[in-house]
Amino acid sequence: MKAAILREFGQPLSVEEIETPRPNADEVLIKVRAAGIDGTDLKLIEGFGYRPDLPFTTGHESAGVIHEVGTDVTDFSPGDRVITYNFATCGNCLLCRSNREQLCPNMTGIVGVRAIPGGHAEFLKLPARQVVSFPETISFSDAAVLCDAGITALHAVERSELKSGETVAIIGVGGVGSYAIQFAKLTGARVIAVDVTNTKTARSLELGASAAINSSRQDVVREIRQLTDGDGVDCVIDVVGRESTIAAGVESLRNGGRVVIVGYTPENYALSGKRIAQNELQIIGTRCGRKQDLMNTVRLVAEGKTHSIVTDQLPFEEINEALCKLRAGEVLGRLVLQMPETALSTTTSS
Ligand SMILES: [Zn+2]
Repeated sequence: MKAAILREFGQPLSVEEIETPRPNADEVLIKVRAAGIDGTDLKLIEGFGYRPDLPFTTGHESAGVIHEVGTDVTDFSPGDRVITYNFATCGNCLLCRSNREQLCPNMTGIVGVRAIPGGHAEFLKLPARQVVSFPETISFSDAAVLCDAGITALHAVERSELKSGETVAIIGVGGVGSYAIQFAKLTGARVIAVDVTNTKTARSLELGASAAINSSRQDVVREIRQLTDGDGVDCVIDVVGRESTIAAGVESLRNGGRVVIVGYTPENYALSGKRIAQNELQIIGTRCGRKQDLMNTVRLVAEGKTHSIVTDQLPFEEINEALCKLRAGEVLGRLVLQMPETALSTTTSS
């Protein structure tokens, strides 16, 4: 099969022919049909954050059809449309048992990120328990981006505990932000979107934001205060995670408000302890999501309650061109690679 392999950090991916994996008893083999590519791939390729052992196949947003099932697999059949839950968790620790498995300290890998080859390939092999079905009403491209952008946005909105009538500012309108705006709207909250380009602020209004602030031209804190009669917002969801965005977010909160941190960079934050203590502000971290969050995301999207966040598509073979587009900031929502439907190579190991 064809796969995109990271052979050396900082170098383009190498699209090459490798052996097609065979599923073990508890595993499924997925024929990949669409695969997202995003900033996490860029970081990974450049060697920041996660550093997988090389060579490594990237791809943490994959949708496809079950091609083959292991002898012990009973809940999936060839032809089923599936996406991946990327965390290989232990299933036994306190966090796994208390429905917070995305925090499992015994994780053995993350699909397409660390230790488990990802979906930038024609086939992908995974334990059946890491696979989630989706219906025909969702396209392969829209399903693929649920594996990271969708699940992360839904879990962040859950962590925010947004309620009807509240106002939330969402900072950063890329893939995750585009879904966060829509999921926040579904709670009945009013959404103010913040990004650095007019294209993205315009896009956020199309996705349901009531107001949008261009932070490269406007003072975010002042604009948010004006939009909330001076009170500030109940909640900020920061998908960017720079020192400057966190500071603006904290300053934009009403007393008793909360900041949910989704994005992060190597930067540390300097925050006012007095302001946090004296105003009972809450700072809440959020990481990707639970398998149940992924299943809930599929359900919401299947119900037709959201707009697609996929704005760009390229053939799989053009994966390095896709990375160039991402680096240049040319992708508005999410870019999805299309796998060839026919002429799949069938080299298998035996
Ligand atoms: Zn665990």
